[in-house]
Amino acid sequence: MCYAIPGKVVKIEGHKAIVDYFGEKKTALAEHGISVGQYVYAQGGVVVSVVPETEAKKILAFWEKKFFELKKKDDELSSEKKPLGSLAPIIDKIEKGRPIGKDEMKKILQAKGADAEALRSYANIMRKNELKNSCCVHGILEFSNHCGMNCLYCGIRATRNMQRYRMTEKEIVAAAARAVKLGFKAIVLQSGEDRFYDRDALVRIVQKIRKMGVLIFLSIGEKDLRTYEALYSAGARAALVRFETSNERLYARMRPGKKLEDRIKLIQNLQRIGYLVSTGFLIGLPGERDEDLVNNILLTKQLGTDMYSFGPYIEKERKADLEKALNTIALVRLIDKNAKILVTTALETLSPEAKKLGLLAGGNSLMIDITPEKYAKLYTLYKGKYKETGNEVKETISLLQSLGRAPTDLGR
Ligand code: SAH
Ligand code: SF4
Repeated sequence: MCYAIPGKVVKIEGHKAIVDYFGEKKTALAEHGISVGQYVYAQGGVVVSVVPETEAKKILAFWEKKFFELKKKDDELSSEKKPLGSLAPIIDKIEKGRPIGKDEMKKILQAKGADAEALRSYANIMRKNELKNSCCVHGILEFSNHCGMNCLYCGIRATRNMQRYRMTEKEIVAAAARAVKLGFKAIVLQSGEDRFYDRDALVRIVQKIRKMGVLIFLSIGEKDLRTYEALYSAGARAALVRFETSNERLYARMRPGKKLEDRIKLIQNLQRIGYLVSTGFLIGLPGERDEDLVNNILLTKQLGTDMYSFGPYIEKERKADLEKALNTIALVRLIDKNAKILVTTALETLSPEAKKLGLLAGGNSLMIDITPEKYAKLYTLYKGKYKETGNEVKETISLLQSLGRAPTDLGR
């Protein structure tokens, strides 16, 4: 079943198209001579394909009633303002458009019980008011678990003695095609830092997938800029590169041989090339304090990237703090009201309800694993990552419907 709505281009302003979804307007980057009157799919603020008019009208006829039902549902679920308790003065400041300080941010991160619930429902209302009920669902394809790096937090780091795999180019393209057939409009290509796939191989893969009319997100770590430029020319338009922590010393400890400033330079260079960039951090690395977490949020905002991607650090012995991860989503929404916030897969390992809770705390984007099962089992970034459901697409669609979220583009 397909969960995507085409929109109609009603205006072109330079490189931007104004796309209409049943009267709701969104802005998306439009390349290749898109013109007014055409129907398109847009993802992450980028027009990814043109849909023939007759096909678009058929899909829109299916969606019309549903679209307004979903909006109503979202309205019902995100209207009740709960008493904010001790956080009331901070939220009051935000409402008046005044900046809040780091201590106030820490207080938000530490909210518990009823205060935390009220905070999250406030952030959810803000999400609805600013960005409506749009929700993007990205398919993530983990094509290799070989990695030359030794990030201490990561379950597939080079020194781990484990079964490794590499998907062939053919397998990668076929897996992407299966996801596209299911209705995915954005594919994240993720791997360890694997030199096996050289520039030419990656370009070939990107070119083939781009022809399927989807947004290609790269999550392949540190490649030289010429490679990233070549992949942009081949059709990739987005990149997921987390800086992991804004604390330089912690970064150097966690990623031996690497420096935070180089990671940040990479993120900025990707922005310069034109990539839509998603960045963020791990929550709860060993030795991390709440002040670091506040700095992580502020650095993500300062970098001015297109999407936030952060999630709890999952460690074998220590259960990550679900409440803090949800409060982080809420805080990001409060200080960056138009943010696109990904509810990451790591959060889901903390509770079967986490996806829902994240979407109700200010989040508005999801990822579904589309890696073939025999490989997904081996892509063990952290414990509990692989879940044997087989039904994730269906389950996610019904979750989105139950929360009143529609697959219109996330842009404003
Ligand atoms: N090799 C690439 C992409 C794959 S790793 C890179 O490092 O950028 C993708 C993300 O997985 C990392 O950015 C990291 O934040 C996350 N990750 C790694 N180990 C994790 C763990 N134990 N718990 C939660 N997330 C983890
Ligand atoms: Fe490799 Fe990425 Fe894991 Fe670091 S986080 S070890 S670069 S896969």
